[in-house]
Amino acid sequence: LKEVTEGKVRIFVPDPKEYMIEGKFDPSWAPVFYNPKMTFNRDLSVIVVSLLKPKIILDALSATGIRGIRYYVESWKSEQLILNDKNSTAASLIQINVKNNGIENAKIYNKDANALLYEIKSEYIDIDPFGSPVPFILSSVNATIRNGIVAFTATDLSPLEGSSRTSCRRKYDAINYKLSSSKELGLRILIGKIIREAATLEKTVHPLFSFYADYYYRLFAIVESGARKADENINKNLKYFGECPRCGFQTFVDENCKTKCPICGENFIIIGPLYIGPLHNMEFLKRMIDTYSDFNYLSSFNRIQKLLNVIEKEAKYKSVFYNISKLASKLKVSAIPPIDSILECLGDASKTHFAPTGIRTDKGYEEIIRCVKSLR
Ligand code: SAM
Repeated sequence: LKEVTEGKVRIFVPDPKEYMIEGKFDPSWAPVFYNPKMTFNRDLSVIVVSLLKPKIILDALSATGIRGIRYYVESWKSEQLILNDKNSTAASLIQINVKNNGIENAKIYNKDANALLYEIKSEYIDIDPFGSPVPFILSSVNATIRNGIVAFTATDLSPLEGSSRTSCRRKYDAINYKLSSSKELGLRILIGKIIREAATLEKTVHPLFSFYADYYYRLFAIVESGARKADENINKNLKYFGECPRCGFQTFVDENCKTKCPICGENFIIIGPLYIGPLHNMEFLKRMIDTYSDFNYLSSFNRIQKLLNVIEKEAKYKSVFYNISKLASKLKVSAIPPIDSILECLGDASKTHFAPTGIRTDKGYEEIIRCVKSLR
């Protein structure tokens, strides 16, 4: 074992030196999983949980316990901290790490997360699996109390972004293709799936805060109860998305049927179902922006500041971002103007954290094209 410091906690993890593959540390080979690359995810989550102040925190897939332990130490001393992992070596390591950080009242389980989630309820539940969170959606939404929060990490970007289309169909029950703005559409497919699963329990979810980083999506969602709320959310926010392969025009569409592009008449490529509503709760986002500077000890503080600055600006636009480099190549515009000049030309527009060549605006396709072309 090796002791590492992350945030304000010290955690024992399997010594990375013993799990090197071709000179590189591969966390998936270690007997208990710890990935330093996920520090950014945990740092941001610490800020979110500090604003939520839940009575109970359940870290259902804990591995070393680092996530739940950090929430308890850095965010908020919840009345109950529950940590779980089905791997017995992990559960033993969690015991050590909890003690080492002076936490007395944690409950540690060594169960299948789904079994545990049908036994207990919690106000905040964290689902941080290997790959897809789908096997845990139903049980975690079921276990979240009314108006509680469920948080998901999804590292299976290849189905969500349309690279593994059959896997997307299987896991997310959605038709998918790789499109120009798939980085954002993948997150929307994930949220759409969670809404459909929650609806079977007469519950629904609304994003509180969500983002894409490195190789994963992260979503914090508020869980509401009631068949009517579930129906309303489905009717209003579950639709399909079409992109024209010829001219790059994008729009949400009601159904997955053959539709022609209103700009050039080409058949749309349609994906979905997916969630078309806001990716953040604006009030919560404002609270995040007002609070994050209290966390300037975090190692990813600068990156958090950058991400929140972009999200603050892009969150006001309802449309999916346009990927300017993809659009330019469809339009055979060879020299892509700098993003900043396009933003200036559009006036009411912003960058997006989803892609460096993306712009977000509620101005129409024609306006965007005019700016892309006029700046050539
Ligand atoms: N949350 C941890 C962190 O931030 O470092 C990482 C969790 S790791 C990605 C996923 C963990 O889930 C592994 O420790 C694995 O043993 C555990 N796991 C996988 N399937 C499980 C299941 N069905 N029930 C409980 N634990 C499970």
